[in-house]
Amino acid sequence: MEPFLEELRKCVHCGICLPQCPTYRVLGEEMDSPRGRIYLMRAVAEGRIEPTRTYARHLDLCLGCRACETACPSGVRFGSLLETARGELRRQGPPPGRRLLDRFIYALFPEPGRIGAALGLLRLYRRSGLSRLVRATGALKLVPRLAAMEGLLGEVERAEPLPSLIPARGRRRGRVGLLTGCVQRHLYPGVNRATARVLALAGWEVVVPRTQGCCGALELHAGRIDDFRARARRLVATFGGDIDWVVTNAAGCGSAMKEYGHWVPEATGLAARTRDVTELLADAELPLGPLELTVTYHDPCHLVHGQRVRQEPRALLRRIPGLRLVELVESDLCCGSAGVYNILEPAIARELLELKMARIVESGARVVATGNPGCLMQIAQGVRARGLDVAVVHPVELLARAADAYQG
Ligand code: SF4
Ligand code: SF4
Repeated sequence: MEPFLEELRKCVHCGICLPQCPTYRVLGEEMDSPRGRIYLMRAVAEGRIEPTRTYARHLDLCLGCRACETACPSGVRFGSLLETARGELRRQGPPPGRRLLDRFIYALFPEPGRIGAALGLLRLYRRSGLSRLVRATGALKLVPRLAAMEGLLGEVERAEPLPSLIPARGRRRGRVGLLTGCVQRHLYPGVNRATARVLALAGWEVVVPRTQGCCGALELHAGRIDDFRARARRLVATFGGDIDWVVTNAAGCGSAMKEYGHWVPEATGLAARTRDVTELLADAELPLGPLELTVTYHDPCHLVHGQRVRQEPRALLRRIPGLRLVELVESDLCCGSAGVYNILEPAIARELLELKMARIVESGARVVATGNPGCLMQIAQGVRARGLDVAVVHPVELLARAADAYQG
């Protein structure tokens, strides 16, 4: 506990992080701010208070967005403090009233095979007309978390796996391994296709190991540290030493993988070789044709705060001829997705989505680009709810479209 306490004591209670904290903005409670949560964690760690249900609730309400880390002049690493504190709490079991839901979430989301099967059932449920019937009866409103989960999913197409090797085009720069992600591979297979295609155009040979599992991000953020460590070790075995970089196109996965070394010493090497796709493409020569689009960019929390990747996606989008990039006000304020937060805390997630949607409408853009499947889903849900004519895409999808438009 000593390093944990030392980190907690770095907080000088200045309050600079408070206006940046989404839960403080929505709830207006000191104990739902970074400073309040640090105060509570420290009081528990020093044995001055018990880790009561109220304490656990304040930690559960945190999005883990890490906006407070970006704001903090003392360099408090709030993300790992939260993960450690949640890890201690999880030893006592899941929060009361959430035992079944927790079991369901952690049995499903980190298991790509099970996600594929569940989405197959969902397609059947929708095609059979049963979903319309259930909606008409209003039954889903009685189970808000189930309604939140159903509402998140737009059209769900069957996903074809990528080939296990995609050769480099032009001058070869090296070999990368692509993490296809548990959610990304099933819900956004087009993002993985675009990622592989653009990387190949940039001169990278792309390896897509068939046996790859989950990176463990969801478990890390929930404090399920033992499960997270086991997944990290399996991923180290999957991406061997013959790969120059391991590329992610999901901010949550990249952020967790870059921090492997903190939790799993033998995964330090993999952490050092992990890059977001926009980082790796930053200095690449790409054949890009014109796209006449007005685009705005939403910063995924785990890219901008977790990995400090802010300029690379914007710079790449600006390289597309004809594309007009308009800045989104408060682009780095969480959209409410935060892993499974929008399922667990739908009311707060909805308020944050409303704030985000108001900014998107204000921007006048017809396309929102963002680099995380959770944000893609959450913002697309906001677009559908408002009936907007706005496309929500990953930046690499725009790059792939621009490559299609290239005339040579
Ligand atoms: S991680 Fe996000 S929600 Fe949690 S305290 Fe920090 S800013 Fe607030
Ligand atoms: S900005 Fe940093 S030092 Fe100041 S209250 Fe927040 S966490 Fe503590």
